Amino acid sequence: MALTGLEIYKQLPKTNCKDCGFPTCLAFAMKMAAGQVSLDKCPHVTDEAKAALESASRPPIQLVVIGSGDNEVKVGNETQLYRHEEKFYRPAAVAVRVSDALDEDALAERAEKIGCLGFERVGTTIRVNLVAIDNESGSADPFEKAARLAAEKSNLACVLMSASAANLAKAAAALSGQRPLLYISDPAEAEAAAKVAKDNHCPLAVRADGPDALAELTPKITGAGVEEIVLDPGTRDLKATLEALSAIRRLSLKSFRPLGYPIIAFTSNSDPTVQAIEASTYVAKYAGVVVTDAVEPWQMLPILTTRQDIYIDPQKPVAVEPKLYEVGEVGPESPLLVTTNFSLSYYSVEGEVEASRVPAYILAVDTEGTSVLTAWASDKFNAETITQAMKKSAIEEKVSHRQVVIPGFVAVLSAGVEDESGWSVQVGPKEASGISNFLKNQWKA
Ligand code: SF4
Repeated sequence: MALTGLEIYKQLPKTNCKDCGFPTCLAFAMKMAAGQVSLDKCPHVTDEAKAALESASRPPIQLVVIGSGDNEVKVGNETQLYRHEEKFYRPAAVAVRVSDALDEDALAERAEKIGCLGFERVGTTIRVNLVAIDNESGSADPFEKAARLAAEKSNLACVLMSASAANLAKAAAALSGQRPLLYISDPAEAEAAAKVAKDNHCPLAVRADGPDALAELTPKITGAGVEEIVLDPGTRDLKATLEALSAIRRLSLKSFRPLGYPIIAFTSNSDPTVQAIEASTYVAKYAGVVVTDAVEPWQMLPILTTRQDIYIDPQKPVAVEPKLYEVGEVGPESPLLVTTNFSLSYYSVEGEVEASRVPAYILAVDTEGTSVLTAWASDKFNAETITQAMKKSAIEEKVSHRQVVIPGFVAVLSAGVEDESGWSVQVGPKEASGISNFLKNQWKA
């Protein structure tokens, strides 16, 4: 049973030292009671108080660790229903399915392809986390063989999916020490699978028909000694799955312990485009693990982009370091382009400059990570801030010309920048996609 704010407050040091980031101990206690902050944010709490507050500090959604070493993925431990109220913490793990009914070459090829599904986006690598081996053959031997091969060829942590606890036991033993997520699709086998999970120190995903049936099942799994559980509400079509995922998330955040676990969702549509839509939807709301057949890069990019966007902190724009960047072999004649230090803006410009093959300087002005128009509207991207950034970068010592290119959307700043900096302004394109053509055909030093 969750503690109230006042019950938590009684256990705190009551010094109001603010080290936790809250103005008073009471404010901290109220946030903790609401599940929005964890006890470890207070560095002064005593061991006795920690023990007393264990139930309050326990996350409403269990943390589940899949894989080991560099392949380790953590899911769960979320505290919010709506991202804007704080943020989502643990990005959904994306798994691509491979069947143990494939022949060895086809299986190895698919697993290798899954392991290579990664992209660079706004300065970050986004990639698939898991390979899901599906015991479609129904037999233990091919399942075990497929598990070994898929783990080796993909170099990813695994989800082992079967209707049989005995088959799971054989494949789990083959991946000893790699901590795969075991998924048992037959509810009647769930308790036997719990024993397998306990013996192999693995997390366990269980399936039941809807939240009510899951709530009845999970106490049996914890009773068998498995705490790290993942829930499959059994739905497969988009609408029903979204409803089930939302219901489980709501109930778990109300500290309903039987449903306080991450959720696994499966794409089911045979249309490759719809698969990507299904997976992206489950990533956004509220799956901890998404299993899909979407193995093509064009399918996976939107899924991983959705995940990257959903799991950034909405109160902290993704920013690059505000400074002068060199793209290519720059020289005294190279153009100077100015943009903001919002990651998406910067990398859009950088990508287009690279594509143009015209070496250039890009000056990322500190706008606290906001985009060109937002920064301009809030007066963070103006003649003064641009000129200050130019001076700080010492660009006048690097180029022989005195021409600066500003984004087309803020052409209105031209006169101010010229007055403030003494440089001539060339108005660049409004969209980054026009930069390549601009540099090749319009830029003049
Ligand atoms: Fe109180 Fe601890 Fe926060 Fe200090 S860090 S204000 S003692 S809750």
